[in-house]
Amino acid sequence: MRLVNTVPVLDEAKCIGCVICSSVCPTLAWSVDRKTRLAVLQEALCFGCVNCESRCPTYAIRMVPRKSERWLYVDPGQVDYAKVEALCRSARLHPEQIICFCTSSRAEEAAAAILTGSRTPEEISTRTGIRSGCTVECSQPLLRLLEAAGIPFQPALDGKGWQIYGTVPTVWDIPAAVKQKYAGRGFHFDADAVLMEEVAAGPTQTAGMHDCACRDRAPSVRGISGAPRPCGPQTKAGDARGGL
Ligand code: SF4
Ligand code: SF4
Repeated sequence: MRLVNTVPVLDEAKCIGCVICSSVCPTLAWSVDRKTRLAVLQEALCFGCVNCESRCPTYAIRMVPRKSERWLYVDPGQVDYAKVEALCRSARLHPEQIICFCTSSRAEEAAAAILTGSRTPEEISTRTGIRSGCTVECSQPLLRLLEAAGIPFQPALDGKGWQIYGTVPTVWDIPAAVKQKYAGRGFHFDADAVLMEEVAAGPTQTAGMHDCACRDRAPSVRGISGAPRPCGPQTKAGDARGGL
């Protein structure tokens, strides 16, 4: 979940068409016009991460307050939660596991975005706000969820593909020879894999329910339909957040 309350503005006199802004924007909101050599913003895609402002070499971009704020959130409660859970566990993630610490977004929210039509990391980001902070930690869980959903990775080539480098090896990918080589140096790949699988397979506590703290902060996100959804008796503000 993310509150988007700023938007970039361009000083055309300073723009040199270097495409750095379009290269660092997690949602592909910037492009550079081939004729004018000026950056062009699709404002609806921007979630206010400030990457472009901080990387523009000529200081042509400045973040300003939005005229109207908007919340980004996909409610897992709108989807059959058994499907949300199955997708998360298939990606070896616990549904209530925080996968984006900058926005306190859980795996279940990203899974719900995929199950309701998102097919790329950029589409998930635009709807959830995931990748609007450090833009690093959440990348791998997103790719694992997309892969688990049967959506193949699209490498960024010739201006196309996903705005993300690709997957990195996990404890499940370490070759036997590497495990053997480092076994005596304090690495415990197999034990780590068992522990991670136990974590991912653990029971859920607030499955498909709204988190009270979120609801208080963003009453407009009470379900995509707009109808308020009650919190369950076992739901407490902040529980299950950052716990895994
Ligand atoms: S990074 Fe700055 S100078 Fe480069 S294209 Fe974008 S706005 Fe223009
Ligand atoms: S603030 Fe972030 S999301 Fe918005 S245009 Fe800049 S890089 Fe893209």
